[in-house]
Amino acid sequence: MNESNQSAARVGTRRLERERRTVEAMITLYCRAHHRPMAGRCADCEALAAYAQQRLARCRFGAQKPTCGRCPIHCYAPAMRERIRAVMRYAGPRMLWHHPGLAFCHLVDALRSRLVPSVWRPE
Ligand SMILES: [Zn+2]
Repeated sequence: MNESNQSAARVGTRRLERERRTVEAMITLYCRAHHRPMAGRCADCEALAAYAQQRLARCRFGAQKPTCGRCPIHCYAPAMRERIRAVMRYAGPRMLWHHPGLAFCHLVDALRSRLVPSVWRPE
């Protein structure tokens, strides 16, 4: 691996780490509002979060990864995709309030890929 590849990989790792935290926070927000778990998240949302993390870890774009809303490759299985979309529709706008730093970075990443993903548009 040459110098520039290494620094691209470092930037990519930071972005992936941020996406990981963002998706975790979004699923938790969604679960608390919709499933009212006793603590943490319900089993379904835990499974969804684990699935999302696994998809992120295996993303073939690595450092160049667009935000998932803009990704040309829909790597989620259809059922999981429906669930994560519902989470993002609900949690996307609320992230600005609960996790403004993460929401802002996610929005910038989305804008950087030119179009705001549909999940950020109001209903
Ligand atoms: Zn849940």
